[in-house]
Amino acid sequence: MTEPSSALALTKRLIEIPSESTNKAELRRIVDFVRNYLDVPGIYIQEYESDGFPSLVATFEDTKSPQCMMVGHLDVVSADKEEFEAHVIENRLYGRGAGDMKGAVAVMIEVMRHLALRPEKPSVGLMLTTDEELGGLHGVHYLLEKEGYSSEIAIIPDSHDGIDTIILNQKGILQVKIEADGLAAHGSRPFLGENAIDKLMDMYGELRGAVKTVKSADEWGITMNLGRIRGGLAVNQVPDHAELHLDIRYAKSEESEHVLHEVKRITKGQFDVVAEGYPVDEDRNNEWIVKYANMLEKHGIEVKYDKEEGGSDARFFAEKQIPVIITGLQKGNIHSDKEWVVIEDLGQFQVILSQYLVENVKPVTLSQPAGV
Ligand SMILES: [Zn+2]
Repeated sequence: MTEPSSALALTKRLIEIPSESTNKAELRRIVDFVRNYLDVPGIYIQEYESDGFPSLVATFEDTKSPQCMMVGHLDVVSADKEEFEAHVIENRLYGRGAGDMKGAVAVMIEVMRHLALRPEKPSVGLMLTTDEELGGLHGVHYLLEKEGYSSEIAIIPDSHDGIDTIILNQKGILQVKIEADGLAAHGSRPFLGENAIDKLMDMYGELRGAVKTVKSADEWGITMNLGRIRGGLAVNQVPDHAELHLDIRYAKSEESEHVLHEVKRITKGQFDVVAEGYPVDEDRNNEWIVKYANMLEKHGIEVKYDKEEGGSDARFFAEKQIPVIITGLQKGNIHSDKEWVVIEDLGQFQVILSQYLVENVKPVTLSQPAGV
């Protein structure tokens, strides 16, 4: 049996390191702290760095492919100094990152330390990165693509919901910049020029007609937001250049192919993909997900399934066709002041996660003792 209080104490210590995504010195400090904390017999630790973002992977054997990979991020969005003072009020722990996601990270670290004490350890890894809030390219994406990590299943407790909810869908993202060029002329004689803003507006209108988007929170499909537009220098001038940025979110990978096809057709190739991310679309009947749901039920939890508009590091596993269990702890005020997590959830998640891993993940085959 694990003692819930250890994850609470560890969460507080993690909150007190102000590991803002933009502060590489503090990101290094928090990774060093975690490495030292995980430095116990039985645990292998590999450290990485990409573009100054440190990350680490802990396993019970010398492998880049544990059967199950737990995934978390140690970075937080920026906050005032006092938000990094962890404190308890009634049943909640407050502080930047309490809910997103230092509480869940602390639980996974404690789970690793407790599993390390077992004579037979499950084939589990813990991947901790420091750039999730900036998109995850130098964290999870780097570790999967450049360092060759993989697993049969990943667990990412970074959702907006609580322990009782398994997120099956997260939207994919496609951000594009569309440009139009024209011919400058004086505003009094527009017929001598070619207006780039007019061309851009025509393309945008045509795209809106060609792509069917959802209009309310109840629908699950494509959304398109025109977030930025630029063009023109003076009111009496025909602009010769204009550009706009679209933020497109979608539910299934076919939808992104469809949107890209239309963008390409309408702009005649005059566009750039600025950012993209794969959608998560899990099969509720996947055996790992079913077993996880069963474990929740065993602990008296009525399981709910949900979708999230926003993305997470799960996108990188989805891109590799690796199923992901996305869940979370009960929390509030994410990315704003007075962020909190429910203390009781730390202990409960630790017990559930430990038992799930011990009962469902195959044991490691050790040729030599690890971490000695
Ligand atoms: Zn997060």
